[in-house]
Amino acid sequence: MADLDAAGRKELLTELGLPGFRAKQLSNHYFARLVDDPSEMTDLPSAERDRLVAGLLPELMTPLRAMQTDDGQTVKTLWKLFDGALVESVLMRYPERVTMCVSSQAGCGMACPFCATGQGGLQRNMSTAEIVEQVLAGARALHRGEVAGGPGRVSNVVFMGMGEPLANYNAVIGAVRRLTDPQPDGLGMSARGITVSTVGLVPRIKQLATEGIPVTLALSLHAPDDELRDDLVPINNRWKVHEAVEAAWEYARTTKRRVSIEYALIKDVNDQAWRADLLGDVLSSYGDWGWVHVNLIPLNPIENSKWTASRPQDEREFVRRLIAKGIPTTVRDTRGREIDAACGQLAAQG
Ligand code: SF4
Repeated sequence: MADLDAAGRKELLTELGLPGFRAKQLSNHYFARLVDDPSEMTDLPSAERDRLVAGLLPELMTPLRAMQTDDGQTVKTLWKLFDGALVESVLMRYPERVTMCVSSQAGCGMACPFCATGQGGLQRNMSTAEIVEQVLAGARALHRGEVAGGPGRVSNVVFMGMGEPLANYNAVIGAVRRLTDPQPDGLGMSARGITVSTVGLVPRIKQLATEGIPVTLALSLHAPDDELRDDLVPINNRWKVHEAVEAAWEYARTTKRRVSIEYALIKDVNDQAWRADLLGDVLSSYGDWGWVHVNLIPLNPIENSKWTASRPQDEREFVRRLIAKGIPTTVRDTRGREIDAACGQLAAQG
């Protein structure tokens, strides 16, 4: 169902020989009432219910394992997709919000050497419905009060799980539309609560700016100079730092949404004071109208990696230098590190 918009759902039911108006009822159960158990859909005639559910809400994925930390307020779920592919999603509850970090591909083909997901290569793209279902599973668990902290709702979705979202563009845009479509056609979230991250697929960033959905764009830069970024983010061999940053700046200009520059701080690799200055110069060369914000990520450990997080004093100096250049800068917390659920750690090992 989540692969299709309202008109497409109706059409599918008609093709299946079922009344088209039932699509609205099913959508209401799935997106508004947050119900996926057919036995709770009592407004559907029992004779049709199983066929309706089989047609529009087949079981797409099964949870294999859930791991928790932060007193149950961070939950990582390992999912098995219908064809056996494994992906992970992470729910993070904060006092003011609940963020779901979702995967958009099984594996990833971008081969960033510091990232666990990148080590296994790309298995396949996920469908819109598979992406959406990760959010809905979190929404249902919150709704039922199954997450520590009592009943709640998903306020934010970040496309920062496994995969490069813009390499699976159509399915990701479909998912963003389902999440923001008003209920009951979709989940009714605000586009402001959604962040799409990318390593810098420049043509796709430009395309995203034309969609009319002002999601937040997060550009994973990780280095301000091409020499280092060619190694850290191999797609840089195709689109250079200045092209990626210019596309991000254009995105901010078109959508009026502040872009987030993601920068994993890696000890003695990209955390030198001169690189902080260079990053500040690169970003401020596009003006100081508040188009950008830097989000520094202390590198999270992954197995068999020679790289590690920066020294605290180097991290502080990096922040200080960026702020001195007038660039708003924050350091991301490292939620989920203990259960390998933090940035760059998702490997979906069964
Ligand atoms: S950092 Fe992102 S784009 Fe790079 S390999 Fe990992 S999942 Fe893929």
